[in-house]
Amino acid sequence: MYERALASLPGANTRTQVHVAPFPLYAERGNGARVQLLDGVEVDDFLLNYSASALGHRHPEVTAAIHRGIDAGGPFGLSVPDEVQLAEHMRRRFAGVELVRFTNSGSEATLQAVRAARAFSGRSRIAKAEGGYHGSHDLVDIGITRFGASPGEAVAETPGIASEVVAGVSVFPYNDLDGALAVLEPQAQRLAGVLIEVFLNSAGVIPARPEFLRGIADWCKTRGVLLILDEVASWRTGYRGAAAEHLGLTPDLICLGKALGGGLPIGALGGRAEVMAVFDPRERIVVRHAGTFNGHPVAMAAGVAVLEALGREAIERMNDQGRRLAEGARGIGGERELPLTATHFGGIGRLHVAHEPPDSARAAIAQPRGPRIDLYRALLERGVLVSPDCRFATCTATTDEQVERFLAALEEAAAEVLCTPQTREVT
Ligand code: PMP
Repeated sequence: MYERALASLPGANTRTQVHVAPFPLYAERGNGARVQLLDGVEVDDFLLNYSASALGHRHPEVTAAIHRGIDAGGPFGLSVPDEVQLAEHMRRRFAGVELVRFTNSGSEATLQAVRAARAFSGRSRIAKAEGGYHGSHDLVDIGITRFGASPGEAVAETPGIASEVVAGVSVFPYNDLDGALAVLEPQAQRLAGVLIEVFLNSAGVIPARPEFLRGIADWCKTRGVLLILDEVASWRTGYRGAAAEHLGLTPDLICLGKALGGGLPIGALGGRAEVMAVFDPRERIVVRHAGTFNGHPVAMAAGVAVLEALGREAIERMNDQGRRLAEGARGIGGERELPLTATHFGGIGRLHVAHEPPDSARAAIAQPRGPRIDLYRALLERGVLVSPDCRFATCTATTDEQVERFLAALEEAAAEVLCTPQTREVT
């Protein structure tokens, strides 16, 4: 399939991070927390579409809602009741969400959040954290350390972004409040908003130190800069959102996505009514947020089913399994004296080929990539699927047996690929 795909897709790929040498995997079907690959092999799914499949595959209520949505026809270019119902659910549930807009992806949610912040404040600069990933678009695909920028310096994370766009973004270090404020303070009068994750997801599942995130939030409040929380990935770790639930923080704007669509493309942007009013078409000056598939009826129906199914208990169980996986991984690293550790935030985590967990994107990037891919392969050979950069997640269908199997596989895999010649002699 890979060879066939090479003829039609650049590098056989349509989502950069799923490429892995010698060839990417192809899925045939999935059920619960299991996936069958194209060659018929079944594996325990801890990839879960990079944590987005929080209810596993083919969750009965979500599947029924999707079928109902499809049977109703559409989309119509008209609003549908499920869009209202999902927005109502979100208002009741997520801290700080007074009004909602729907998009088709997390990327679009952050894009519209940046526009809203600018339109509301009349200021144009945006600040984001080093290693913060907010989607695949020019306004935010900026500022990682991979191309060797010095702290505070913004660089495009990918070729193809205009330097004028990069110049409008400030980048501050994550988990270093003094360092961050040193970047932010001189910009205070020009900043529309600060865009930040509760944990650096793509950069290595690196949780924010609570005092760091609280410090950023306090600074935003005193300077009249909007706090835009990117909870596209993290919201599934806390009933009212990760920041509200675990840190008591309420944002001005919050971006959601991933798990919200129950497997369908979705994104959402919510927040303070006076800020969200920039999208109100009854106003004379309105932020244009168009989209043929905004508020897609099938995704809206799925979203309602997702929020109904993801109650506090379900979230706590997923989070607890995430904690057990991360602690188990650290235990294996410690006992066997291997460069293996893990970080997690609730049910979303990552294995690190290192003795100490990184607390910044720079530290995560400094880790060698090769052994991590070896670890991914060695886990796969033992029936455990994680991402090629060794991110993992749990879902409501993940069983305790699967958690045990993961750790047993990890123990073997780590011994196989992470043992240096010296440690091999000892063990
Ligand atoms: N923000 C965060 C924190 C994310 O993890 C992601 C996706 N990995 C996005 C935004 C972008 O979402 P999408 O892939 O749906 O565009």
